[in-house]
Amino acid sequence: MNAILIEQTTGFFAEKFGNEPDKVVLSPGRINIIGEHVDYNDGDVLPAAIDKVICFAFEKNNSQTANIVAVDLNETVTIDLQGEMQLRDAIWTNYFSGVVKYLKESGYELSGFNCVFSSNIPVGSGLSSSAALECGLIFGLQALFGFEISKQDIALMGQKAEHWVGINCGIMDQFASVHGQKNKVIQLDCNTLAYTYHDADFSDYSLVLFDSNVKHSLFTSAYNTRRKECEEGFSILKRNFPELKTYRDCTPDQVETIKEQFSADVYKRVRYVVGEINRVSRACQALDAGNIQLVGQLLFETHDGLSNDYEVSCAELDALVDYAKADEAVIGSRLMGGGFGGCTINLIKKGSEEAVKTKFKALYQAAFDIELKSYDVKISDGTTLYKG
Ligand code: ADP
Ligand code: MG
Repeated sequence: MNAILIEQTTGFFAEKFGNEPDKVVLSPGRINIIGEHVDYNDGDVLPAAIDKVICFAFEKNNSQTANIVAVDLNETVTIDLQGEMQLRDAIWTNYFSGVVKYLKESGYELSGFNCVFSSNIPVGSGLSSSAALECGLIFGLQALFGFEISKQDIALMGQKAEHWVGINCGIMDQFASVHGQKNKVIQLDCNTLAYTYHDADFSDYSLVLFDSNVKHSLFTSAYNTRRKECEEGFSILKRNFPELKTYRDCTPDQVETIKEQFSADVYKRVRYVVGEINRVSRACQALDAGNIQLVGQLLFETHDGLSNDYEVSCAELDALVDYAKADEAVIGSRLMGGGFGGCTINLIKKGSEEAVKTKFKALYQAAFDIELKSYDVKISDGTTLYKG
């Protein structure tokens, strides 16, 4: 699949600029196996890069101008590299101006370049095409101009570019896109950026995402409220157990002991966070032991927590997980990402994928009159220099 994308992108480059590109970069999207809404609560996440990528083709052009072609949108932008970077109406161009801005601010000397890019990552479905865009560009410019930027700094600069665009994201997406390794998940502490890899051979099971195709607008307000509720919850815990440094140190028992001190909502949020941090570490142990059934069960538990305690699900996502619970071929399913829409991540017995997709599509269409899309994903390498 990526071979076709590479051929198309480099072919387009040759057509547009009259020669082959010097550098070709593949920059992947990402999934998160488990660890939702814990990145800002001192927990670990468990993301991985996937086999859906943005392909970039580059060359220097001996000028002070960047010419960038977004093949999928059939749009071209020209950026004067010597001027101040400006936000423009065409959102996608801001990821590029953001990267240029922060490369320059970090002292990297850019000169003119031509860039063509095209992608097979679904946009806006929660697979982080935006992180793939920022980080792939930084990685490509580093290769083109011979900069030496560590993987961690590429991820951090990508995050800054995303903030420049106006999305106040954490570091997980960029980190996973850059650090991904084939058949490995990354256990990442988003605060300290400490990380370890775990083998993720799902053997008899395939990873399939179902795209609910909805995006409920509750997301931002709920996110801000949850953050406040979690802070309040922790301050109550800390008052009772001064030895606690973060949510990471809390046990479910401690939460239960002082249950009456929380408001009903805060209690549920705290119960979710402490439970989820615990599930991430159990999922790592299960992966290490090759116990994929247990990983699946933990995904279902996470979804229940996100839906009932953290209250960031929606009818469409709950229905998709209910279909999964009722189907023997699906051993785990949960909403992936912030909630209120986007995809569910599912572990499906190999050989049953197509039957499950057909069945879920019919059920979802009947219930919501929405077409259900699905994406097969494999855990793959992070940003890669394909040519050059
Ligand atoms: P996602 O979950 O895919 O990261 P975002 O809304 O964060 O969704 O980012 C999507 C944005 O990234 C798009 O609106 C667009 O500006 C940019 N983008 C992603 N992929 C492409 C592409 N192939 N061509 C042009 N722009 C893209
Ligand atoms: Mg994004």
